[in-house]
Amino acid sequence: MPAAASLVIPLRAGAWPRRRLALWAALLLGCLALAAMAYRYAEDAAIERLRQSGTQRLDTYTAGLEHLLSKYDFLPGTFELNKDVVAMLQRPGDEALRREVNTYLERVNRLAGSTSIYISNLQGVTQAASNWRAPDSYVGDNIAFRPYVRDALRGMPGGFYGVGTTRGEPGYYFARGIYHDGRMLGVATVKVNIESMEDSWTEDGGRTLLTDAHGVVFLSSVPEWKYRTLAPLAPAVRQELEQSRQYFNHPLAPLGLRGLPGLRTLDSRTRIVAGPPPASGPMLSQSRVLVTRNWQMVYLSDLAPARASARAAALLTVLSEALAVMLVLYARQRHRLGRQRQRAREDLQRAYDQLENLVAERTASLQQMTRDLRDENAVRRQAEEQLRKAQSELVQAGKMAVLGQLSAGITHELNQPLTALRTMADNARVLIERGRLDDARNNLTTISQLVERMGQLTGQLRQFARKSDTRPSAVPVADAVTAALFLVERRIAQERVGFRMATHPRDLYALCDSNRLQQVLVNLFSNALDAMEMAGSSPRQLVVEAGREGARVLISVTDSGPGIPEDVRAHLFEPFFTTKPQGKGLGLGLAISEQIVRESGGQLRAESPPEGGARFIIDLPRAE
Ligand code: ADP
Repeated sequence: MPAAASLVIPLRAGAWPRRRLALWAALLLGCLALAAMAYRYAEDAAIERLRQSGTQRLDTYTAGLEHLLSKYDFLPGTFELNKDVVAMLQRPGDEALRREVNTYLERVNRLAGSTSIYISNLQGVTQAASNWRAPDSYVGDNIAFRPYVRDALRGMPGGFYGVGTTRGEPGYYFARGIYHDGRMLGVATVKVNIESMEDSWTEDGGRTLLTDAHGVVFLSSVPEWKYRTLAPLAPAVRQELEQSRQYFNHPLAPLGLRGLPGLRTLDSRTRIVAGPPPASGPMLSQSRVLVTRNWQMVYLSDLAPARASARAAALLTVLSEALAVMLVLYARQRHRLGRQRQRAREDLQRAYDQLENLVAERTASLQQMTRDLRDENAVRRQAEEQLRKAQSELVQAGKMAVLGQLSAGITHELNQPLTALRTMADNARVLIERGRLDDARNNLTTISQLVERMGQLTGQLRQFARKSDTRPSAVPVADAVTAALFLVERRIAQERVGFRMATHPRDLYALCDSNRLQQVLVNLFSNALDAMEMAGSSPRQLVVEAGREGARVLISVTDSGPGIPEDVRAHLFEPFFTTKPQGKGLGLGLAISEQIVRESGGQLRAESPPEGGARFIIDLPRAE
């Protein structure tokens, strides 16, 4: 059905169309670009936050440092106000005065919270020191090589961070010339420990370091980074540092702080670096120059959290995109399914309509066929009727044929009594004339007997010849055999045929038409007599046996003739088959007999008994 075929949803051919593939690729690229943008934006935002917090830190830390150092800036300049100090420098040999100054310096050092305070002459030899009591006191040490002393002697007071040459203790040195009446007498130095600042730099996750003008880290929240350099030192600088022993004997190896690509909107003092061990991974580096001291403070913040939040943002974007794509796909699928369903519904409706049309057509043609069949039936019934009539005619014809065959015997049968009748009638007249009335009476009795017999014969003939009404009834088998026998009785007697009949039980009834059963029996008897006569059989025997077998009645007619050859047996019941000479047989007898028995619901069959001859068996339904 075409409608059913169109119901099948067509499958898309194997490969995706190129346009669709390009669309998906573009979508994928768009999603990736969006995710990358989200990553970049989130990273930028996180870096900006880090930058702001780093700037704050730098502000705080540099302010703290300046605050600490500015406290001591003025202190070296105060010593020239002390008379003892001036006097000591003017009279270097006065030991009492030196002790006085030592004690004074000791006291001031304690009060100011500095590491040490000492005063040296114009040659750089320390004359008095706050640590004068200690075994490794500075008193007597020549410190002219120290840059801060050199600078102070040159009239350039200043600060200097360095590691002590005696104890290796780092500190900030404030040095200033001691003047009296406009003349320099010596140099006063205050050393302050500023390492304690480092402790306040470890408060947050960032790392802070402080370098000098050469990039040497001298303070750091990470101990490992101390006395390392931001960049390799130039040989001249290295030589100068070694000479001044600013950093004692520390090797000053480079820190290995590498700048990383990825500087985008960052300013010149902000960059991304690879964190040196023990820190690892990228870090945001921000620096601030402390102009007054020519130092640089660097603040490093870990970029890992920023990158993580950027990754999270990218992932979130990808997930959102996937969700959006899935939602779009879902909506499309729903839409497509809806369309398919609609199409299927339409197809179904079409198929249904077609089916209805088809059913209507079929119904109409069926009705036509029924009408035709009814007409055909009428025709067939008519034909059957005609056939039945023809068969009836045929049966009648067969009967007439038998009668024809019997006619010679019957004529003789009638002629003989007729002759006798005439003779006896003539004799009776003579006897009456002669008064022999008794004899005449006897003659008349015989005449009357003869007439009766003739009447019986003609009655039988009429009975046989009449058309039967073919309605089956209970027929006494013995009566039918007797009636049939009557027609061939004379032949039996003439041809000296021994006849025997046995009916068990006596009152045996077959369900059939009596006239027709009689016709069959006459046929079988005639055939048996013919066969025995033609073969010249001797002795001649005709035996009729009738019996019951369940609901059936079996009547057998057996003769002692030549029997039935095989080639004849195959054609026995065919119409117009005969082995008899022309004029003697028509070949209709057995064909009609078989048909009669069959129509009564029975069967006619031929057998060859072992003792020879032929046997025909009529098998009919039994009647009560
Ligand atoms: P018809 O008697 O006119 O020949 P039938 O139909 O009665 O036609 O018989 C057909 C043939 O069957 C006979 O010609 C004969 O050859 C054979 N036949 C019939 N009855 C016997 C019998 N009792 N013995 C031998 N042959 C028989």
